[in-house]
Amino acid sequence: MFESELNVAIEAVKRAAVLCQRVQASLVTEETLAKKDRSPVTVADFGSQTVINHALMSAFPEIPIVAEEDASALREAENRELLGMVVQQVQAQLPELDEAAILESIDQGNYAGGATGRFWTLDPIDGTKGFIRGDQYAIALALIDNGEVVLGVMGCPNLPRGSVSESRDGGCLFIATKGCGTHMIALDGDGQIGEAHVASDVDVTDIAFCEPYEVGHTRHDTSAEIARLLGATADPVRLDSQCKYAVVARGEASVYLRLPTRADYQEKIWDHAAGMLAVSEAGGRVTDINGAPLDFSLGSTLQANKGILATSGIVHDAVLAAVKEVGAKQG
Ligand code: AMP
Ligand code: MG
Repeated sequence: MFESELNVAIEAVKRAAVLCQRVQASLVTEETLAKKDRSPVTVADFGSQTVINHALMSAFPEIPIVAEEDASALREAENRELLGMVVQQVQAQLPELDEAAILESIDQGNYAGGATGRFWTLDPIDGTKGFIRGDQYAIALALIDNGEVVLGVMGCPNLPRGSVSESRDGGCLFIATKGCGTHMIALDGDGQIGEAHVASDVDVTDIAFCEPYEVGHTRHDTSAEIARLLGATADPVRLDSQCKYAVVARGEASVYLRLPTRADYQEKIWDHAAGMLAVSEAGGRVTDINGAPLDFSLGSTLQANKGILATSGIVHDAVLAAVKEVGAKQG
């Protein structure tokens, strides 16, 4: 099932990862960090989306794409310099694409999504804040078929193959196919690493939590209270991007908890589709914080859901109960 889609998706994500790594190595300098200059991430974001959209559209012109970026800002006169940098980075890989073709490729990600038919969803750089800090980020691509995620490919250039705390080794790529499990391969080669399986901990006191690094993307204090209530003693692992789903999928953490910071925030489908499938195909469970399954059929956002809970499965109900209890106490 979806074998040709999978092969094209893997090659596209690998290429985009090369572009992102090159930009991170050359453009994210002490100086840009100090100036809080976001142009490196902008260049890599647009470059990654161009490389992937172009590959997908060349192979499957009939499958539309819901992607995070659009080219309107890049078309503005004041961003000429930025556009030049995007063109330079893209042409290092795809010399045949000129400026107009690059802008057009970026804008091919403008599909709205929905309940019927098949479409891709792409986050060209998930975890942009991590990218700028030199920390974790992911290139996340998924295929959705009649509202269901059927394929997920997640490139994690800075995620070591063994564990988050090891030294960098070229990164990994997670491949999940509905009904066929989750596999991890080396991002920078053909090396098989193996199947990914969630942790098999039965005792909730042993569970390791992971959560967003950014204070604006979850509620660290409340998560800590939930962990305390469960008797979990290990410090939470704070990571940017869908690398959180990756570490749950391979059993390094048992829980990824993302608590809403405000009532009106709607999670985006590209922030969760590939990661969700990686965890569920690795034997885990993914719902929102009320226990509802994630609904990818409602357009570009998960508007029926609140927050995210991805776990190894066994501990899922216990964490949901703790989330509820702490929520009730906080009112
Ligand atoms: P993370 O790396 O897990 O912190 O997630 C990064 C993603 O958080 C970005 O791709 C954004 O789409 C998303 N995001 C932006 N604002 C919020 C918010 N207020 N609450 C939750 N997620 C957000
Ligand atoms: Mg994102």
